[in-house]
Amino acid sequence: MPVPSMTLAYIGMGANLGEALASLKQAAAELACVPGISALRLSRFYSSAPVDSSGPDYVNAVAAIETALDADALLAVLQKIEQDHGRLRPYRNAPRTLDLDLLLYGDQEINEPHLIVPHPRMHERAFVLRPLAELAPPTLRLRQGSLAALLDACANQKLQLI
Ligand code: ADP
Ligand code: MG
Repeated sequence: MPVPSMTLAYIGMGANLGEALASLKQAAAELACVPGISALRLSRFYSSAPVDSSGPDYVNAVAAIETALDADALLAVLQKIEQDHGRLRPYRNAPRTLDLDLLLYGDQEINEPHLIVPHPRMHERAFVLRPLAELAPPTLRLRQGSLAALLDACANQKLQLI
């Protein structure tokens, strides 16, 4: 049988309610078990004050995976794991038990109502870029610039390694 082609994807993970660190660790373990997802690598964990949100500090991390799933199927997997963790969406940017965002899917650009990739706010967020930089080369380029340059531009954002 032919081996399905694998795509390198990056998932942004965040939580600021309940046992946030435990939720992220469990979500990573769940992701690693999904058929069609392999070679999961996880960044270290960071904490940051809420941006465009409210409530307690966030815990953030990034996971890199190799996947045979297409981007839509991967988004469905992420949303299912969010739901399993009791994620409610009472209003936009509400505090959350678990947020899983598809940051990058290979070098594909996707602009659908329900899925925008690269994630539209990742380039300006230290809590995404710093953990991403543990897994991706500094030469990685987004439309807004190289990962190294984007990291420099948000160096003033407070972020603590847990
Ligand atoms: P956010 O993560 O932006 O704070 P949500 O997690 O509540 O907000 O997501 C809101 C919607 O964003 C989801 O219903 C999803 O369809 C859409 N969406 C668009 N692009 C992406 C992406 N790259 N990753 C995850 N969700 C996305
Ligand atoms: Mg989200």
